[in-house]
Amino acid sequence: MPDLICIVCSASWQASEAPLCPACLAASWDATPDLVREKHDPAVVASHDSYRSVVSSAFLRRRREILDYASIHGRWYFDAHYGCYVHYTPTPLGVAPGVGIPAGKSAPDHALDSLMIAEAESAPHVFAVDRVRMEAQIRAGEFHPLEACEAASCANLRVPFSERCAAHVAPPRARSKAST
Ligand SMILES: [Zn+2]
Ligand SMILES: [Zn+2]
Repeated sequence: MPDLICIVCSASWQASEAPLCPACLAASWDATPDLVREKHDPAVVASHDSYRSVVSSAFLRRRREILDYASIHGRWYFDAHYGCYVHYTPTPLGVAPGVGIPAGKSAPDHALDSLMIAEAESAPHVFAVDRVRMEAQIRAGEFHPLEACEAASCANLRVPFSERCAAHVAPPRARSKAST
């Protein structure tokens, strides 16, 4: 199973597991100024009229470390409802990345064990979800796993919004280790 080498940072990765270079992905998430948006920011204490989740203090403290872990161990899904790609990581580094706050309340009443990065390829923003619930939604077809690259006998995952992997998309974002 050939690894790919990132054209930008020269890191190599297993493209059958992750469609994009994890090192570049984590860096781009971390450089996003509104990665934690107002709705999911624990510093905003006003009650909302609907349920919301906020990121945990552990997430804020270990943000870069958790994003690095997620970029390697998380998985991409197509969100069939919103028509965008999300990136999902169950229990990153064993840390609960968020808490849930019931509608009309200002204090959380339960922990959320998994990390979600919505619009992860274009306008990333983080929040926390419940693993059991998310995995039920995946089984129900609300989130679709990435398919393999359409190029002949290529098992790499497709880059989001493309039919091809990072090596076969135009312009290519990676090259095959085998061809060096
Ligand atoms: Zn890279
Ligand atoms: Zn390919």
